[in-house]
Amino acid sequence: MNKGTQHTEETKQKMRDYHSKSKTESNPDEREKIMNLPKIDLPTFELRLPDTEQIITCRPFTVREEKILLLAAHTKDENDIIQATMQVVNNCILTEGINVKKLPFFTVDYIFIALRAKSVGDTVEVNFKCEHVPEDSEQCGHVFPVKLDILNSQMQKNSEISNDIILGGGIRVKMKFPTYEIMKKNVSDEGMENIINIIAGSVDQVVKKDKVYSAKDFTHQEMKEFIESLAHGQFAKLEEFVRNFPSFAIRAEAACPKCQYNHSIVYDDFAVFFY
Ligand SMILES: [Zn+2]
Repeated sequence: MNKGTQHTEETKQKMRDYHSKSKTESNPDEREKIMNLPKIDLPTFELRLPDTEQIITCRPFTVREEKILLLAAHTKDENDIIQATMQVVNNCILTEGINVKKLPFFTVDYIFIALRAKSVGDTVEVNFKCEHVPEDSEQCGHVFPVKLDILNSQMQKNSEISNDIILGGGIRVKMKFPTYEIMKKNVSDEGMENIINIIAGSVDQVVKKDKVYSAKDFTHQEMKEFIESLAHGQFAKLEEFVRNFPSFAIRAEAACPKCQYNHSIVYDDFAVFFY
């Protein structure tokens, strides 16, 4: 928790540095001494956030943000990539009062896709491995480039899943959508451990009869222990909510040049943009 707060402050400081730099450049004293290069005015654009419908103002990536992404990609460290993505999204949001660390993960994905499209271009080329197994033969295995059109990204949402879940025994749980950091970070190689972590990060309130326990009053570890204490059937109900989170996916159709099989490709991992 503390680590998170520190990082927000760090990011904010970097933003302040970024903005104050342009102020120094227009300082009259400095202008006498050196001839300044012209300041670049970036175009801005508006985005409607998918969950709250709030309209925010953004600017495109600059080379500075591309550098942040490339450096993180280079480390191949999952945590570095998560932090870099959030920092870039944070840098490019001009609307005050938006805390990227607290936004639902799919909102961050959405802003990131939109920024990528506005900044670098609408298409991303990825290498796709054909896993088609032709009759009487082995898996094709051919690797070929596929162009993903960011404008073909769609939000997938299952509206039948309620966030108010009755566990039985007088206990109900109110769920929320987890943050980008909780959702993207695999805490373990074990799928079960990751799911427990995500569920623990998605609890908003636990209600027992008329007593309300708010998740913000408990540590993540305490919430994990609560989740681990549930019976199998109770856990399954929370898992269903988590498995049906809204998400963004980009679709593409591509034929394998080697075996001619037509693939319907769905990408929901935007780390591909780093490479
Ligand atoms: Zn093939």
